[in-house]
Amino acid sequence: MQFRDLGAQYRALKEEIDGAVLDVMSSGQYIGGSPVRELEEQLAGYVGAKHCITCANGTDALQLALMAWGVGPGDAVFVPDFTFFSSGEVVSAVGATPVFVDVDERSFNISPARLEEAVRTIGVEGQLVPRAVVAVDLFGLPADYPAIREVCDSHQLLLLEDGAQGFGGSIGGKMACSFGDISTTSFFPAKPLGCYGDGGAVFTDDDGWAELVRSYAVHGKGSMKYDNVRVGMNSRLDSMQAAVLLVKLRAFADHEVEDVNRVAAWYDEALAGTGLVLPERYEGFTSSWAQYTVQLSEEVDRAALQAGLKDRGVPTMVYYPKPMHRQQAFSGACSCPDGCPVTDRLCETVLSLPMGPYVTQNDVAMIAASLGEALTE
Ligand SMILES: *Cc1c(COP(=O)(O)O)cnc(C)c1O
Repeated sequence: MQFRDLGAQYRALKEEIDGAVLDVMSSGQYIGGSPVRELEEQLAGYVGAKHCITCANGTDALQLALMAWGVGPGDAVFVPDFTFFSSGEVVSAVGATPVFVDVDERSFNISPARLEEAVRTIGVEGQLVPRAVVAVDLFGLPADYPAIREVCDSHQLLLLEDGAQGFGGSIGGKMACSFGDISTTSFFPAKPLGCYGDGGAVFTDDDGWAELVRSYAVHGKGSMKYDNVRVGMNSRLDSMQAAVLLVKLRAFADHEVEDVNRVAAWYDEALAGTGLVLPERYEGFTSSWAQYTVQLSEEVDRAALQAGLKDRGVPTMVYYPKPMHRQQAFSGACSCPDGCPVTDRLCETVLSLPMGPYVTQNDVAMIAASLGEALTE
């Protein structure tokens, strides 16, 4: 058993993917061209955003958004403490200061109440100008955008949705990657919608920001590539990845999001009564289940449990073992008003189980049985 079985997905879509890749090979055009344009149109349509700009990866996508907004030195950007490093890294990369905010213990996503407190604290301190919030759709569940948007509106903050794990989720039928003033995603292979290398995308309804993101992604181009009006970067999705994604997006929209929700329901049922804290569901929210993450009680030796599961052929992962504000890279260069006790505890107690649209009900039964055994040894 694999933690995320990308091979099973390839076998299911092999004929179409092979054909699409070979078409690119024989077209002679390997950067840009029609697959990239078509993909951007389809992604924008799927998400319900006016503009989609593809780029090299999900980290660049976040950085491009901050660059388009001119976020930089002296600015505070609020980021959940429980996330992948990129969400905070890009803030420091543009010279701004990440302010880490604790998360909700059940949704794993940024706590709107703690966000409100952090924005006020930073405002009162007066050292930094509150500019933007990076909200992360952790493990596939959209963050609490109705509440986060209220905080942003009352403090004139820009909202950046980091949908690297959230692509395919929704709130009340509105799709993830449409909640931010700018939203981003990643096509890293193991994400809900992955390619066969690196890739990312930026979404926005704003024409001006879309143009700026396109410019920053192509060396700060002006009217054309050799007219450079600002210092940008080189960040593009190649045609081969676009061709793969066009095939995968069809399967994703057609059945994979449903499939992975069925797997989550099997897990809920199989793990009920084990004493594990299972992922919470929220009225109107749909997750794309980048991860199925349970919480162990504090007495459980997580490393021993992982070893016991590994012996039984069940791979597991710890997302994430370290809070952002405790990362050496941010030492002295971030703020974490009042600490983040929930994140501190989650980093000790979470465990992610094998997940993906091609996990079977038998797999889930076997994982649940193994967990039952390993928890009692
Ligand atoms: C994976 C991920 C990213 C970065 O995406 P890359 O394509 O690997 O650069 C950013 N934010 C979150 C929450 C992620 O999970």
